[in-house]
Amino acid sequence: MKFKRLVGYFERIEATAKRLDMFDILSELFKETQPDEIDRIIYLTQGQLLPPFHAPELGISEKLLIRALSEASNKPTKTVEEIFKATGDLGESAEQLINGKEALGVNQVYDELMAIAETSGKGSVNIKMGFLSGLLRAVSSVEAKYIARFILGRLRLGIGDPTVLEALALSEGDRALRPELERAYNLCSDLGLVAKTLKTGGMKAIEKFRIRVGYPIRMALCERLPSSEDIIEKMGRAAIEAKYDGFRCQVHKKGDTIEIFSRNLERTTKMFPEIREAARSLPAREAIFEGEALAYNEITGELFPFQVTMQRKRKHGIEEMAKEYPLRFFAFDLLLFDGEDYTEKPYSERRDKLVSLVKGNAVIEAARMFETSDPKEITKHFEEFVETGLEGVVAKRLDGVYTAGSRNFNWIKLKRSYRGELADTIDVCVVGYFRGRGARARFGVGALLAAVYDSESDTFKTVSKVGTGFTDEEFLQVKTMLDEITIKKKHPRVDSEVEADVWVTPRYVVTVTADEITRSPMHTAGRDLEGVGYALRFPRAVDFLRPDKSAEDANTVDEIIKMEAQQKQVKVK
Ligand code: ATP
Repeated sequence: MKFKRLVGYFERIEATAKRLDMFDILSELFKETQPDEIDRIIYLTQGQLLPPFHAPELGISEKLLIRALSEASNKPTKTVEEIFKATGDLGESAEQLINGKEALGVNQVYDELMAIAETSGKGSVNIKMGFLSGLLRAVSSVEAKYIARFILGRLRLGIGDPTVLEALALSEGDRALRPELERAYNLCSDLGLVAKTLKTGGMKAIEKFRIRVGYPIRMALCERLPSSEDIIEKMGRAAIEAKYDGFRCQVHKKGDTIEIFSRNLERTTKMFPEIREAARSLPAREAIFEGEALAYNEITGELFPFQVTMQRKRKHGIEEMAKEYPLRFFAFDLLLFDGEDYTEKPYSERRDKLVSLVKGNAVIEAARMFETSDPKEITKHFEEFVETGLEGVVAKRLDGVYTAGSRNFNWIKLKRSYRGELADTIDVCVVGYFRGRGARARFGVGALLAAVYDSESDTFKTVSKVGTGFTDEEFLQVKTMLDEITIKKKHPRVDSEVEADVWVTPRYVVTVTADEITRSPMHTAGRDLEGVGYALRFPRAVDFLRPDKSAEDANTVDEIIKMEAQQKQVKVK
């Protein structure tokens, strides 16, 4: 396909505000796409070169792009800067400046972009510039507009993963194929790979799709219930595991090669040198297992809080951190062992194998667990766990399989909560902010507009304004981070009746607590026909930022509805 044709689709997608039209346009695009380019077209459409767990960085700043535009258009940088000043968008500036005639194919453009990303080391800036100005010289004005936006990470077509899956199913002429495509996606987290498998081998190949070492499996999640009694009533005899408040890791081992993926499926191997070493020594040729990494005081045996563990999320000084705050790894699931897929096996079998795998390891140990059918026993251990700094318990169905990418009653969490608070914290995604008055005005941000995720429509729906729980320093930090993702108007995937002072791309997740969930006409989350949605009463931030979560990992509208129903049940009791 010619890149210009793909850009024509981008323009159509950008021009529509209706999700249904977007599905149709995308499915038309996929129908027309050849198997040797479908993966690349999907990545490009989502503003990436590869799935996020590869995340190659282009490394082109605004300044460099201005230089490349100047070279490609034979105009002085000053002229480019003036146009940029007038348009406020380097995409539009590129459109005005560039006018090439070469009609490149999608694969050619992709290869050039990849070459830019793969160039590193000494002298790389000049080499990157060479690639980029060459590419810009060749393309037409409208192609240049989208290339410029892509390069700066500002190609915001509003296409999330569920939208791609829906459109892929439609492109095969049947919406009902979506769950099977989703299953494959949950096993590899790579939409390009799923689409390529579909285009080359049809639905038969998708049905045969299995997990593979090196591709992160979308993580299984917990449902919640308000009490131990409810848990036993739902599950019968169950395994009760300690709930560790750390950094969830999925470890992939192939011989001596170890990769570690985070909750939002980013490659975080470099953050955990001691876990990588420990995983190498495990008695398995191949394995995929999950657990929580936690900072641990070796002398007192104490577990440190989440914020201490989180300090590992940095680029430099990791080895020093590893010395100061060594980590322990509490393994709670086994997904693959020596070529055998364990995700379909019952919990008990996975747990037994996991225990034998990690036995005797100095860093990796199996999560604390006991089996019971007595709610009183859960309550007793719950108190004891919480006293030792754990978050609560996760109950697991003994015959439950590992359900990749889904939240269901195979796992149920019970967390400590305080009087007058919701039984669980809520992860919200920031979609905009308010400047704030009085003392707050000096931070430039007084409250965040928070939303939850609706996977059905692949949009973010507002649920609250959050203005408390932040320290002064956090406010300043939030402002700097949000400044980088500010957009002129509401993001296409945000559904809001509230007008924020400043809109941002949905990216950052904040954990909040609240007194309760109420019904409110202000917010769009869970709106009924009368226009009444759900809102948080007295929300306050408890973890001002969750770098381990992506926008789509925020809690969902359905969960908010369920939590509201549960809080009523508790009140009645
Ligand atoms: P939370 O904000 O409560 O950590 P979450 O949204 O990350 O929740 P949930 O499915 O609600 O995810 O809770 C499960 C989380 O609890 C997992 O993502 C994992 O990080 C953590 N966890 C800690 N101990 C365990 C355990 N023994 N088994 C499963 N998950 C555990």
